[in-house]
Amino acid sequence: MNDVFANLPVTVFEAMSQLARDNNAINLGQGFPDAPGPEDIRRAAADAVMNGYNQYPSMMGIPELRQAIATHYAHWHHLALDPMTEVMVTSGGTEALTSSILAVVEPGDEVVVFQPVYDSYLPIIRQAGGIPRLVRLEPPHWRLTEEALRKVFNRKTRAVLFNNPLNPAAVVYPREDLELLARFCQEFDTIAICDEVWEHVIYDGREHIPLLTIPGMRDRTIKVGSAGKIFGLTGWKIGFVCAAPPLLRVAAKVHQFLTFTTAPNLQVAVAYGLGKSDDYFLDMRKELARSRDRLTKGLTSLGFPVLPSQGTYFLTVDLSPLGLNETDEAFCRRIVTEHKVAAIPVSAFYEEDPVTTVVRFCFSKNDATIDAALERLAHAIHR
Ligand code: GLN
Repeated sequence: MNDVFANLPVTVFEAMSQLARDNNAINLGQGFPDAPGPEDIRRAAADAVMNGYNQYPSMMGIPELRQAIATHYAHWHHLALDPMTEVMVTSGGTEALTSSILAVVEPGDEVVVFQPVYDSYLPIIRQAGGIPRLVRLEPPHWRLTEEALRKVFNRKTRAVLFNNPLNPAAVVYPREDLELLARFCQEFDTIAICDEVWEHVIYDGREHIPLLTIPGMRDRTIKVGSAGKIFGLTGWKIGFVCAAPPLLRVAAKVHQFLTFTTAPNLQVAVAYGLGKSDDYFLDMRKELARSRDRLTKGLTSLGFPVLPSQGTYFLTVDLSPLGLNETDEAFCRRIVTEHKVAAIPVSAFYEEDPVTTVVRFCFSKNDATIDAALERLAHAIHR
């Protein structure tokens, strides 16, 4: 059997969701909203199923969606993308990332990866024969530093994988960090694969800056997006890859044998959704920020040290000042079995030298769900 995959554990998201089901717990682990998603977008999908085309769409995605993606990024980021040669639709962000990694990385190539790292990156890099070079980011700021990048970048650095906004740390990286990373990519002729699936899920007037828009990065950046996160429809699995033609062409060759195409009716609906007015996106952010604040306030009043959440569906809690004498993992196991609330231990996002004191909670939930979880957690600290 293939060593890369044979001994992998089941992903922490699946494992915690199973524990939540087994314990009849409120699931604040895996990131998905309680809300059913925008009604008009779901209706557009239903219409397309009933009246539209349900056979194989074109491999690169339906033209309307590729055009909608290009128009969307032109509007939000002043990015000029050619929909025919620089945009591809995939079956979700994970497939977009896998296609990109397999397109770029060859045996012996080094790939810089930041911890906390999303669980799919390392196995795919290894399957490609790449050698991960890990950078350890730390709470409470999780920022990139020149010193840390200097230690891992070298002549063999073929690619860097960068997740911004960062899950699970809930950081939206400022221009300064992007420019720092861009300088290293240019110095070492490195391709950046940017997982920007949380690009619209940002708060407090923050701006998401795609690395692709930083000077010098246009031809060496692959930008990955996801309708699941943009519209809170995580099961739809519609992802996008945007990159200069020489990069996209190879990613498309991988995509054609991973999934080949993606449900055409859902593509129609996403094309419609991407054209929604700015107000839709700004209201979505406001509504999520309200849920973030509700959970933050509740956890804080229970004595949990909450770290600020700038984006994503998540906030994190740093257990270290509490003197609980248990790891994040033990804490999560205890609260799911004894208090019936599931969360995610952030140490699961580290392959070596883990941060073991931080726990991630998902707040993209109804008020009632958040309040019920808070009630259950009332005695989680004082044992
Ligand atoms: N992106 C989701 C999260 O971080 C999980 C997706 C999955 O379950 N693989 O919670």
